[in-house]
Amino acid sequence: MEILYKSTRGGGEPVSASQAILKGLADDGGLFVPDRIPVFDKTLDAFAEMSYQETAYEVMKLYLTDFTEEELKHCIARAYDDKFDTEEIAPLAAVNGAYYLELFHGSTIAFKDMALSILPHLMTTAARKNQIKNEIVILTATSGDTGKAALAGFADVEGTRIIVFYPKDGVSPIQEKQMVTQKGDNTFVVGIHGNFDDAQTGVKRIFADEALKNRLDAHGFQFSSANSINIGRLVPQIVYYVHACAVLFKEGKLKQGEKINVVVPTGNFGNILAAYYAKQMGLPIDALICASNENKVLFDFFQSGTYDRNREFILTSSPSMDILISSNLERLVYRISGEDGEKNRGFMDALGKDGKYTIDETMREALDGFYGGYATQKEAGERIRAVYEQTGYVLDPHTAVASVVYEKYRQETGDGKPAVIASTASPFKFTKSVMEAICPSCEEADDFALADRLSEMARLDVPGAVEEIRNAPVRHDHVCEKGEMEQMICGFLQIAD
Ligand SMILES: *Cc1c(COP(=O)(O)O)cnc(C)c1O
Repeated sequence: MEILYKSTRGGGEPVSASQAILKGLADDGGLFVPDRIPVFDKTLDAFAEMSYQETAYEVMKLYLTDFTEEELKHCIARAYDDKFDTEEIAPLAAVNGAYYLELFHGSTIAFKDMALSILPHLMTTAARKNQIKNEIVILTATSGDTGKAALAGFADVEGTRIIVFYPKDGVSPIQEKQMVTQKGDNTFVVGIHGNFDDAQTGVKRIFADEALKNRLDAHGFQFSSANSINIGRLVPQIVYYVHACAVLFKEGKLKQGEKINVVVPTGNFGNILAAYYAKQMGLPIDALICASNENKVLFDFFQSGTYDRNREFILTSSPSMDILISSNLERLVYRISGEDGEKNRGFMDALGKDGKYTIDETMREALDGFYGGYATQKEAGERIRAVYEQTGYVLDPHTAVASVVYEKYRQETGDGKPAVIASTASPFKFTKSVMEAICPSCEEADDFALADRLSEMARLDVPGAVEEIRNAPVRHDHVCEKGEMEQMICGFLQIAD
């Protein structure tokens, strides 16, 4: 049955999956959500026999109902190939009584690759299906990982351009180097003087600007989004939870009728929302454990029912989680409001105006199943060291936050169900923080020397993604104020007045 996508704010007519992917954001500023969450038409037994790619097809076909089987399979084959440095696209590592689901084996060594290696193919297929003549301009705000993964995915993809804004002083040195060395004539990278929320708010404002939209159209361009507000990112993220469950089932670590807990280091709430969708579709998931760093808006929300972004923005060792406005939470709030667009719009207006909103009792009850926790930078560092000393396995700072929160959850609840911890980045992407934790006496000054040292200590090869930027020339050195984003865009597209 066809699934259509409607706005979380109740405006506009429902659109097809391909149209939702092309548009990114709904016209009324809301996020696209499926008009119903489908249920699996395969059992865990069946998934247990499937490859990652086969599972991807079985999951994605349920959401992207206007794509043909051939189109979807083609997109999947082009995305999940030897760009990944392991045969298993998303391997599970059993460490210290939990299963780390390694989502960082793609070309930019963070979990964003899981969705962003397929999004360009979904997008160009969607453009063809809808007879789009305009060039598609991907506009992206990044806290560090989305930017590079989107650049890698869209570089030199015909009919597209990609513009990335990142907080100039808010990403790791390796993250920055990955972005500013990006090749491809259709790529454009800009550092802004501001934090991630400034970049994300700026991008959302630009999306909502009708005059700019018309000006672009007149020049043969149209915007779309590679941020996790795009439904084309959310859907591919459901796949690895299904695959992980199936693998555990196949290996006898999850029995028929049992459930797993899922732990997700969270920023924009996209990854954990995908796990929530998987659960709604029938995957045997019990607790959804949402792990935050010191920017613990989500923890407070789960505690109190009030979402309040009025607080200091803290730069931590897990920069991809340094976020005070978790965009995808809107999809959950909409869902637990009983899919009441009017009501959700009220919350989002309040968030825009006062920086906060409070959900009611009924909605809080519907959050049953979520557990919020947080870890400080110090706790995360100690965790990286302890796990390394006990097992030789090296966590990145984001995954370490999840690991700490999982320990707290276990101590609090005694719940010993098998736990899958989303491992969202390679430790090589955050070498400085990681080495501070496991080798405080290491004196290597630059990140590449540190990566070599980490390679010895972890007995792992330095990933290709790091080798490739070691000596790469800087190709992007644009910097702007947060009020100048529109000008930068028009400059790049050469459509200045
Ligand atoms: C993006 C990112 C996160 C947060 O994921 P969300 O889907 O935004 O919640 C966590 N860890 C890493 C390494 C990331 O790149």
